[in-house]
Amino acid sequence: MTAPAGLVILGATGSVGRSTLDVVARHPDRFSVLALTAHSDAEGLARLCAAHDAAYAVIADESRLSTLKDALRANGARAEALAGPSALEDVATLDDAEIVMAAIVGAAGLRPTLRAVMSGKRVALANKESMVIAGDLFDRERRASGAVIVPVDSEHNALFQSLPADFQSRGLRESGVDRLLLTASGGPFLDADPDTLAGVTPEQACAHPNWDMGRKISVDSATLMNKGLEVIEANGLFGAPAEMIEVVVHPQSIIHSLVAYRDGSVLAQLGMPDMRTPIAHALAWPDRIEAGVERLDLARAGRLDFQAPDTHRFPCLRLAFDALRAGGRAPAVLNAANEIAVQAFLDGEIGFTRIPAVIESTLTAAAPGPADTLDDVLAADAEARALAREQL
Ligand code: NAD
Ligand code: MG
Repeated sequence: MTAPAGLVILGATGSVGRSTLDVVARHPDRFSVLALTAHSDAEGLARLCAAHDAAYAVIADESRLSTLKDALRANGARAEALAGPSALEDVATLDDAEIVMAAIVGAAGLRPTLRAVMSGKRVALANKESMVIAGDLFDRERRASGAVIVPVDSEHNALFQSLPADFQSRGLRESGVDRLLLTASGGPFLDADPDTLAGVTPEQACAHPNWDMGRKISVDSATLMNKGLEVIEANGLFGAPAEMIEVVVHPQSIIHSLVAYRDGSVLAQLGMPDMRTPIAHALAWPDRIEAGVERLDLARAGRLDFQAPDTHRFPCLRLAFDALRAGGRAPAVLNAANEIAVQAFLDGEIGFTRIPAVIESTLTAAAPGPADTLDDVLAADAEARALAREQL
């Protein structure tokens, strides 16, 4: 019997973070929680640290450190309290950390996730934005350190499961892959009258039909930018060029994605829409562990429907494909502009249909350039945020 694997969860208080802890708590012999992190919810973080006996608690917002210390004491948690963005990187590279769950939302997750890859960890990657803005950098550092990145995003996890085990060393084409087919639920406005979209509220946009997620990704699902980001994420994770990636709308979210091979075979991964499945897969790979997920009953599901995405009504998907084809800084610019526009929508500053407009004008205004280094990527991100704010 080997010792339990030390686990760090970046973004433990979020939707993916909590689902991860739900899976982990079912397997105390396999995983031991080393560090949990949060942005500013010190109380919530302290409760999780107490419940899961974490050794370190990290709060990214430094002004919340004393609150965190008080809350840890009040909850009887033994965790050592740390604060600030550099502490996120410190726990992501701890010697005892075997697995790092990257579940911070947005570009804020880039540095600690990249550091975990650079130090050769098993990285369970939910934080798609970091792969979108720095795909080449991740690929280079993964090869240099020997880190294993197992995607948690359900579509990419499905692709990972449907690809041959040696796809990374052989390459996709050499593995006989013709296309990667990403499924999209279509979000809450799939069948909405286009004239009503300008007036939808954040609450309507966050009411996803199949998945219960954080607010930012819920809005992304409603605009289809989530699928756009996932197209770029698939390029970063699997090395597939834009021409090899297709999106198909599948409202039931039972087929999580598919790999089409040269000989006409199409392999898919199916399951209930429950993030605990890809989380458990990424944590235990290549083993399979119990995840607490309801069994898939196909007869009860009844039917599986498919349709082409409507990029006229949902321009974000087209903008993401354009950014992937443009390459360089464009994906980082797209992502940063999207983060600003989505937050402005959630704050009631702009309407829903302004989101793609802000992103498109930011892409037009931003300077092109390479995204080879972390500095390149961070500069593109900062410039795009400033440009996007000017459009609001
Ligand atoms: P969430 O908003 O529920 O949680 C985000 C977590 O990140 C929280 O713990 C928060 O404290 C932390 N955080 C936020 N801003 C931070 C900052 N500036 N610095 C440090 N920490 C910060 O988000 P979520 O829905 O769990 O999504 C997390 C990531 O996983 C996103 O990249 C999302 O796209 C991806 N993802 C989520 C789902 C899902 O079902 N929720 C599915 C696929 C992929
Ligand atoms: Mg997804």
